[in-house]
Amino acid sequence: MSRVPELFGSLTFNEEVMRERLPKDVFRALKKTMEEGSPLDPSVANVVATVMKDWAAEKGATHFTHWFQPMTGVTAEKHDSFLSPVGGGAVIMEFSGKELMKGEPDASSFPSGGLRATFEARGYTAWDPTSYAFIKDKTLCIPTAFCSYTGEILDKKTPLLRSMDAISKQACRVLKLFGKTAKRVTTTVGAEQEYFLINKEDYAKRLDLVLTGRTLFGAHSPKGQEMEDHYFGSIRPRVKAFMEELDEELWKLGVPAKTEHNEVAPCQHEMAPVFATTNIATDQNQLAMEIMRKVADRHGFVCLLHEKPFEGINGSGKHNNWSISTDSGENLLDPGRTPIENAQFLLFLTAVIKAVDEYQDLLRISVANAGNDHRLGANEAPPAIVSMYVGDDLDRVIESLVSGKSCGDKQREYIEIGASVLPPIPLDHSDRNRTSPFAFTGNKFEFRMPGSSFNIACTNIMLNTAVAEELRLFADELESAPDFDAALSALIRRELKAHRRIIFNGNGYSREWEEEAERRGLLNLRSTPEALPRYMDEKNLRLFETHGVYTYEEMKSREEIGLEEYSKTIHIEAETMLRILSRQIVPACISFSGQVAQSAAAKASIGLKAPAEQELARQVAEKTEQAVAQGGRLQEALAHVPGETEAAARYYQSSVLPAMEQVRQTADSLEVLVDKKCWPFPVYEDILFYA
Ligand code: ADP
Ligand code: MG
Repeated sequence: MSRVPELFGSLTFNEEVMRERLPKDVFRALKKTMEEGSPLDPSVANVVATVMKDWAAEKGATHFTHWFQPMTGVTAEKHDSFLSPVGGGAVIMEFSGKELMKGEPDASSFPSGGLRATFEARGYTAWDPTSYAFIKDKTLCIPTAFCSYTGEILDKKTPLLRSMDAISKQACRVLKLFGKTAKRVTTTVGAEQEYFLINKEDYAKRLDLVLTGRTLFGAHSPKGQEMEDHYFGSIRPRVKAFMEELDEELWKLGVPAKTEHNEVAPCQHEMAPVFATTNIATDQNQLAMEIMRKVADRHGFVCLLHEKPFEGINGSGKHNNWSISTDSGENLLDPGRTPIENAQFLLFLTAVIKAVDEYQDLLRISVANAGNDHRLGANEAPPAIVSMYVGDDLDRVIESLVSGKSCGDKQREYIEIGASVLPPIPLDHSDRNRTSPFAFTGNKFEFRMPGSSFNIACTNIMLNTAVAEELRLFADELESAPDFDAALSALIRRELKAHRRIIFNGNGYSREWEEEAERRGLLNLRSTPEALPRYMDEKNLRLFETHGVYTYEEMKSREEIGLEEYSKTIHIEAETMLRILSRQIVPACISFSGQVAQSAAAKASIGLKAPAEQELARQVAEKTEQAVAQGGRLQEALAHVPGETEAAARYYQSSVLPAMEQVRQTADSLEVLVDKKCWPFPVYEDILFYA
């Protein structure tokens, strides 16, 4: 363990390396860019590039790539080598400031959701100096943003950086009202990552896992997670070895992996890092997912990041722990100890509550895909309804603020918010309401709806921008108020009263909550095709335009891409299902029922009765026929997909998914009838309960 400090960040071009290797003035210029976003001078970039290349070459790198996050979930890279011919067959290793600052991947191979049709296909990547370059697979990876030449953003990093600027600007205005001068306010994120580890051999035998990342067939295992023995159980030695190597690999890349543990479902685990600035936390989470897959492979595992790899047991999510702090390190969601801190805290808290209520749809959109639809609202994870949990104590504070009445306890009177009279806020540290999608956990919020495969950029773009908007409105109102304390008090009371409906401290999985939420007028967007069109709601367009995060076209393109991705995912799943049905399951069933029938015939020929064989052969034959017919109906459904994007997505949800469900049910009932030796691929109990 003593090696850890040395190991940590050893493959990143971090501040320490910069300070050590860059000329003083260059380091200062770069640091200014990193902290204030000021443009970098080309001559400075040239020096940085050369130093970066030498450093990378010493670490064995031969190539470089602009590493970026296109609008679909993956990270993209195009590798170029440092080699530069100098004549006479000789080469030198070269890397210019221009190559560092700007790259030109062919934008036409990435989804642009219609932006490409109206604008140029060419795009460029631009270095994001706020995120450290790193070495992976002998390649110097330069974190970049990706835009079209006409300025439309084609990635997830650019709008994230814009949303961080937006919230910084508005939060600084609000802080000024409390007599504070913050230069910059940043949102921070710690993304807890859930995943499954299964044996490579099992994976390879399942076409559904290979092609779609989830099992499309599989009868529930007699034992699932009901004994709750996995979470507290000891970690399998092979998994432990995986986790140790994962930590090391992540540490080298400067990703502060902190905890590794088992999760609720068998084979399910979690990695949590120490939080970082949102932009960096996003890059690091993308990197973590990639490294997990690689390290798993070296240990004979496959790492499944799909939201719902197995039916009947929990799926995987990603908890987005989110807070706001100033450049001097003050966490604005920390209630603090003094009344003045409390008042400021209450104002920021109110902004978050209002933002979550008014932009429920955007938060839901940010976690919408075909995989996560199997999780949200499916009696596990959080429901599809966005609500907030603040804990009982804070809820009492809110109650007394709204009602204007003391909450009973003599020492706890919160009726006045005037900065000078508010007593310390007691905090419920007992939060373990695991059913809430958006829980306050002492000094941060934990948003639990993101799916395990998601890029967290989108969620944080929504959160940052929505909260920025509320802070903007608050600042406008309070800046012009003659009496700050009175105005503050009135504002907090008014807004909490208006948005209190979003707070729910009960069981989020219950049927009653669904009904109650409907009475409260909260949204319940059950599926991706229901959620995504809300991108284009007037209020949402206005929000992103006001803060310069997305234009109308950029929003439209994101809606399109999301819907297309949804349809494509289900299409591939349906085709895979049909392939497995016709080439593996049906042949296995036919041959098995044939064997059983033969056995029955053989017995009959010597005068023996064979009721068990007869019954089994009959059941298997009947169900096989049923499965074939259902497969035919699924095939038929796939032949009638409408052409228009939104209609197609809705059709996949309402017609294709139910047809798939039918096929699955029949096939799964066959699985438990057929001799295991005849079944064409590993079943749930084999996959989930390996030694
Ligand atoms: P748990 O949820 O198990 O109680 P913690 O609360 O310690 O664990 O942390 C969960 C995650 O929240 C970690 O990734 C941690 O780094 C992150 N986190 C803690 N404080 C903050 C913060 N101020 N901003 C963002 N994330 C945070
Ligand atoms: Mg947590």
